[in-house]
Amino acid sequence: MKISHIEHLGIAVKSIEEALPYYENVLGLKCYNIEVVEDQKVRTAFLKVGDTKIELLEPTSPESTIAKFIENKGAGIHHIAFAIEDGVANALEEAEKKEIRTIDKAPRNGAEGLKIAFLHPKSTLGVLTELCEH
Ligand code: ZN
Repeated sequence: MKISHIEHLGIAVKSIEEALPYYENVLGLKCYNIEVVEDQKVRTAFLKVGDTKIELLEPTSPESTIAKFIENKGAGIHHIAFAIEDGVANALEEAEKKEIRTIDKAPRNGAEGLKIAFLHPKSTLGVLTELCEH
């Protein structure tokens, strides 16, 4: 697979409203989009840092994987997302051939109109890894 850059870092937060003052007033970043991703039961807020983004993830339901993550590990870095130049479908196929466990068998729709798929942290040394393409 061909990775061009880190597309974003996903950070689990209990509340976007409580988290934003730190990112905006202390770090001086600007939130430019807040969006609900229904099938992942999360609300997301995006801030740009150069070519990379910070994606704040707030659970919208106790069944959300983000809610469970916060319950088990507390708020904090949840995943790293790489921008894939030659397509998420290709990257998934390649990962499977290399015996990497995948969470998604095929690309699906993520926030901001991206095609996304996740690799399982059991196969990625503990780092939940998202592959995405515009
Ligand atoms: Zn993400």
